[in-house]
Amino acid sequence: MIGTGTTGAAASGGIEGVLSAAPGADVAIVGGGLAGLSLALALRQGLGPDADIVLFDPGLDRLGADDGRCSAIAAGARRMLCVLGVWDTVAAAAQPICSMIVTDSRTRDVARPVFLTFDGDVEPGEAFAHMVPNAALQAALLDAARAAGIDLRGAAVEAFDAARGGVGLSFGAGGRLSTRLLVACDGARSRLRTMAGIANVSWGYGQSGITFTVEHERPHEGRAEEHFLPAGPFATLPLPGNRCSIVWTERTADAERLLALPAAAFQEELEQRFGHKLGWVKVVSKPRAYPLGFAMARSFIGDRLALVGDAAHLIHPIAGQGLNMGLRDVAALAEVVTDAARVGLDFAAPSVLERYQRWRRFDTLAMGVATDGLNRLFSNRSDVLRAVRDVGLGLVDRMPRLKGLFIRDAAGLTGEVPKLLRGEML
Ligand SMILES: Cc1cc2nc3c(=O)[nH]c(=O)nc-3n(C[C@H](O)[C@H](O)[C@H](O)COP(=O)(O)OP(=O)(O)OC[C@H]3O[C@@H](n4cnc5c(N)ncnc54)[C@H](O)[C@@H]3O)c2cc1C
Repeated sequence: MIGTGTTGAAASGGIEGVLSAAPGADVAIVGGGLAGLSLALALRQGLGPDADIVLFDPGLDRLGADDGRCSAIAAGARRMLCVLGVWDTVAAAAQPICSMIVTDSRTRDVARPVFLTFDGDVEPGEAFAHMVPNAALQAALLDAARAAGIDLRGAAVEAFDAARGGVGLSFGAGGRLSTRLLVACDGARSRLRTMAGIANVSWGYGQSGITFTVEHERPHEGRAEEHFLPAGPFATLPLPGNRCSIVWTERTADAERLLALPAAAFQEELEQRFGHKLGWVKVVSKPRAYPLGFAMARSFIGDRLALVGDAAHLIHPIAGQGLNMGLRDVAALAEVVTDAARVGLDFAAPSVLERYQRWRRFDTLAMGVATDGLNRLFSNRSDVLRAVRDVGLGLVDRMPRLKGLFIRDAAGLTGEVPKLLRGEML
């Protein structure tokens, strides 16, 4: 335990009884997804070896199992993974995205004119994003967390309450713990957010993202493609070798119909969208569909509580930014907590958590609104709207400075960038 703790000092009875009876931690992280595990490592770096950091996840045994999903990791987030010592482990499975093209057409159009192209690095030799298999990243984070002495518990947190300088929580079958700071990294359906009484603004898109991996005949040369089709974007994202990760948005009923098709019919639908530029194409992982929606917590903080990742915000994968936003939360929260601890302040005090909220809220809201607007603008059948947006895309394409800004923004390197995203230690 670091510094002078206040947890464990409360009187007996109710949650205060939990606080007095339970062993104490400095930070309890609830959720071992990519955000939760990254936060555990960032806090270990910031708070040092004496900090008691506990991470709960009932699915601990399954973390790192291959579900075929991949994520575009922006340059800033990759820098943080380097500083946390996990990038070297996943680098072999990662593919730099060297360029990107955007098209806008009907599903059955034979030609897909390119309206927008992005290429170039954020810094010489540094790609603006890499594609990484989620399983490889999660396994690397889990190994690093074990090596860093994070106390990993395979249990769900069932209840908590804040009282007199600490939070008492109960987990699994009768376990209890007191902590100074509780962090909810428990995903879009966060129970902790609900238990804290934090309202969540949310809506569904009536769309699902079908995702899987394909192999193809010819090299992709590191090019990502986003084809805006009437039902939603169809993205092909390069992986090492002649492979791509597909994120294929459809109306939910159509996604279910597609997943129920025999392999040959599914292949036909795939080829209609993927095209033949890269020669033959073959599905090599099981396609799975994820319902898509938007959600934003009314507050990212509570009493000794911070929300991080999908627990705080959920966005459409149209720009591949959901996890990147979560990793930016991680970098910002770890920095404000570390800054406070180093000058001997209570790192879960309202002023510290408010600094975290101020840092993340505007950026998150701006990204949420942008992805929501893009999805509405592009996922429709209107030819008039298509003509208007194509003029817009064409204009952007002729503005290299603006495109450079978009690239730095997507890389997470604009605004007040937390140290970890700049590639600096805490
Ligand atoms: C189709 C698709 C494609 C995407 N592509 C990209 C992309 O390219 N780039 C990108 O940046 N983002 C992308 N995203 C978004 C990204 O996948 C998510 O934002 C990210 O995985 C969320 O991580 P998380 O750790 O916040 O939450 P989760 O991954 O949901 O993890 C939550 C964890 O909390 C645990 N948990 C839940 N309740 C409790 C409890 N009570 N106690 C203890 N543990 C609990 C769960 O077991 C789980 O392990 C995509 C999303 C979709 C749907």
